[in-house]
Amino acid sequence: MRAFNAVGGTPRFMASGSGARLTDVDGQEYVDLVGSWGPMLLGHAHPEVQAAVVAAVARGTSYGTPTEPEVELAEEIVGRTPVEQVRLVSSGTEATMSAIRLARGFTGRDVVVKFAGCYHGHVDPLLAAAGSGLATLAVPGTPGVPESAAALTVVLPYNDRSAVEAAFAQHGDRIACLITEAAPGNMGVVPPEPGFNGFLAETCRAHGALFVSDEVMTGFRASRQGYWGLDGAAEGWAPDLMTFGKVMGGGFPAAAFGGRADVMAMLAPDGPVYQAGTLSGNPVAATAGLTTLRLADEGVYEHLTKVGDAIRLAAAEALTQAGVPHVVQSAGTMFSVFFTGQPVRDFADASTQDTAAFAAFFHAMLDAGVYLPPSAYEAWFVSSAHDDAAVETVLAALPCAARAAAA
Ligand code: PLP
Repeated sequence: MRAFNAVGGTPRFMASGSGARLTDVDGQEYVDLVGSWGPMLLGHAHPEVQAAVVAAVARGTSYGTPTEPEVELAEEIVGRTPVEQVRLVSSGTEATMSAIRLARGFTGRDVVVKFAGCYHGHVDPLLAAAGSGLATLAVPGTPGVPESAAALTVVLPYNDRSAVEAAFAQHGDRIACLITEAAPGNMGVVPPEPGFNGFLAETCRAHGALFVSDEVMTGFRASRQGYWGLDGAAEGWAPDLMTFGKVMGGGFPAAAFGGRADVMAMLAPDGPVYQAGTLSGNPVAATAGLTTLRLADEGVYEHLTKVGDAIRLAAAEALTQAGVPHVVQSAGTMFSVFFTGQPVRDFADASTQDTAAFAAFFHAMLDAGVYLPPSAYEAWFVSSAHDDAAVETVLAALPCAARAAAA
């Protein structure tokens, strides 16, 4: 993604970030709509986060012992989400990998169900690609993943209840867990259809499988309580396990998985499922994440909504004026623009995009000082530091970029 392969050209090497803006090594300034792929909820170099991190560094950077910040960070996560216990790790990949191991250990089953277009980090069985038919076992999605790892993964089309029912009918007693992004952001933003996550939770429960909701991207971003705050909290269900990352690390390598206490009890040292990490719960990363979450009050989420609405409405308007087929979709405060004329409810729909039009749009925005994700399949991220001037820069760039996409 950083290599600009999807859009062509030379990637910008950034030298510094402040608030809503990044500055590259040539001194060119950009309004940032990538936010380090999601973590920078409060913008770059937030003064309070920075001060807390500097103070933490001065106290030493890693002890390999329990610390107060990691406990407080875990409590902050437990306070906002339905998880009862949390284990801290260092990346979203580690979180989903460990959640799957735990689900397999808890259920004594091997098969994992995932959706095409959902990304859960570079975990071998989760890099599987869809097999040839519905509810068939998958094939490796990249060289380096053994067929045996992919063969234990079932890949289904997103938002497709009958595909889920068919998979559970065929493999039900072998399924350890179903993992899904709470609202996919890795094929662009594709919100679950109403009731879909609740349906997944119920289907898993009925078959003795665990429901793993991956909130690495949506957690503490889509809303104060993550995407679960927009569906499960109101509908009255909770995932068995959840994974978190990005925002909860405040720009440092921190992530987590957690869930039902009886499931977490299977985890070492209490239980037999092994998991550990030299830098897990690192005091500097935990301090950055804790400070970020404590600052992320309802006012922050209201601001993200306001700024996000302004940008996505203006993007839609500019593309309409230029006659460029597009769909703008959102999930809480996350949103993205698809360069296709049809609503996107799964990865097959997302794949109908005109990626050449996106590349032209991307480069015109870049030339006008707006840094978008360099792929048509990514969410756009705003921060509490996106002020009126930053929004104005984006709005001013859109009409010209839309015309470039139309050319
Ligand atoms: N899960 C989701 C939903 C993600 O978006 C990502 C990363 O983009 C991951 C897991 C993997 O996280 P990391 O890149 O920290 O390993």
